[in-house]
Amino acid sequence: MILESFAAGPLGCNCTLVIDETTKTAIVVDPGGDLAKIEARLAKHGAVVKAIVHTHTHIDHVGATADLQRGTRAAARIHEADQFLYSILPIQASLLGMGTPPPSAELDTWLQDDEVISLGAVDLHVLHTPGHTPGSCCFEVRTRGEEQVVVLAGDTLFQQSVGRTDLWGGDHDALLRSIRGKLFALPDPTRVICGHGPDTTLGAEKRTNPFVRVR
Ligand SMILES: [Zn+2]
Ligand SMILES: [Zn+2]
Repeated sequence: MILESFAAGPLGCNCTLVIDETTKTAIVVDPGGDLAKIEARLAKHGAVVKAIVHTHTHIDHVGATADLQRGTRAAARIHEADQFLYSILPIQASLLGMGTPPPSAELDTWLQDDEVISLGAVDLHVLHTPGHTPGSCCFEVRTRGEEQVVVLAGDTLFQQSVGRTDLWGGDHDALLRSIRGKLFALPDPTRVICGHGPDTTLGAEKRTNPFVRVR
């Protein structure tokens, strides 16, 4: 498996490419913008996009979704509880001072809690983790048969911080429940790729994150 994460779009959302090397297929997580950059990285690996999935539906995580879909015909997916956010992209754009909102993608089936999306030998396990938005999801990514897991946490958990809950449908108590109940159930060494900023591990956040520390 190749995992490539890089800042994309106006707010520096971390876009992640999950690539199965054998089938040369990819899932793109959170194409927030910078389509050319995303396409160049996919081309470097010769990877064909099979799905575009989103940790949540804030505009900085979906900015290049429609354009990427146009070039790839890949299925674009969000959680149903974030559907309302996709329908207010123009309002999100004006609130965040981002000018013209991006065109709308054709959304495929909703992401389901506990669903596994497979790509060759790679499994992406969907964890519905509401709080930052009602439809926020984290993705547990692993090569089948291997222990090691990487979590794509979106804006749910950050290094030493947690996602804001003052935007549409945010719920701080739900966010804490999601982190403690679902993310912290995974092994401490698990690497976490956050929606913005640097990576961390679940163990480090359990020990020292002031919002969700458990010991
Ligand atoms: Zn967000
Ligand atoms: Zn974000």
